[in-house]
Amino acid sequence: MSVIYDRVVLIGLGLIAGSMAHAMRAFGLAGHVAGYARSAETRDTARRIGMCDSIHDSAAEAVAGADLIVLAVPVSAMGEVAAQIAPHLKPGATVTDVGSVKQSVVQSVGPHLPPNVHFIPGHPLAGTEHSGPLSGFASLFQNRWWLLTPPEGTDQQALARLRDLIRGMGANIEDMEPGHHDLVLAVTSHVPHLIAYTMVGVADHLRRVTESEVIQYSAAGFRDFTRIAASDPIMWRDVFMENSEATLDILGRFTEELFVLQRAIRMGDGPQLHEYFTRTRAIRRSII
Ligand code: NAD
Repeated sequence: MSVIYDRVVLIGLGLIAGSMAHAMRAFGLAGHVAGYARSAETRDTARRIGMCDSIHDSAAEAVAGADLIVLAVPVSAMGEVAAQIAPHLKPGATVTDVGSVKQSVVQSVGPHLPPNVHFIPGHPLAGTEHSGPLSGFASLFQNRWWLLTPPEGTDQQALARLRDLIRGMGANIEDMEPGHHDLVLAVTSHVPHLIAYTMVGVADHLRRVTESEVIQYSAAGFRDFTRIAASDPIMWRDVFMENSEATLDILGRFTEELFVLQRAIRMGDGPQLHEYFTRTRAIRRSII
């Protein structure tokens, strides 16, 4: 594949940035991949494993001369990082992010950026329960979706180039309005993570009360279902802090459904449970 950006800089060197660095270098998509993370330990690890072509000790130094800047830090840090790098951006550069929430990132990053750079927010729907600089791998984005929320009037050339990079890393792209993104992700990712964390909490209570070995001997259902509860607590704290409106909406709907099922179980209403599971199984099967 051909080089799409001469110089890309990744801010934050964890799972997503690390995977982008590995993918861009493996597929020859960038002339030079630079990196910066706030913690010296993370920068040292990134240097040691050769994650990027260069690792810098300041964000300002890292972004100098960059054609594409990728903000890959926790969502709550996006605005602060944008403010740090804004005075050092090359005119005509593109800034994107990979945050799991979009409305709050648009609001926290956008106002800091000068008008002569292109800001195209994004979110790869790809991840694992691991985090940090050692967790990235080149194939993370293969055949996964990467959502973009380009604001109205986005420069079409800048957008086309970013799309080329994302496709080059193996992902499929869809454009979405930020508010719609946050609602869709609340249903498909955010609330499921919350429920998984909660199930682990419930199992822990049970274990304390009964001294049974719920977790150790847990059935595959529990282990599969709660795998995502091993995800990074900072990332997920931020997701719920920054996407509270959509999360609370979906959580309210979820609770209502749960009460319906709870009542059906209490009343011994087998036909209602059967009808509910038949309907939702058909929906689930039609999705994948
Ligand atoms: P991670 O914890 O693996 O890495 C985050 C990195 O950001 C670390 O290197 C940390 O040192 C650095 N960092 C934190 N605060 C910083 C700051 N103020 N300045 C500079 N660097 C800072 O996290 P990740 O999983 O790669 O997530 C990064 C972003 O990608 C988040 O916004 C997250 O919402 C999003 N995302 C994550 C997943 C996932 O499944 N993990 C999927 C899609 C998108």
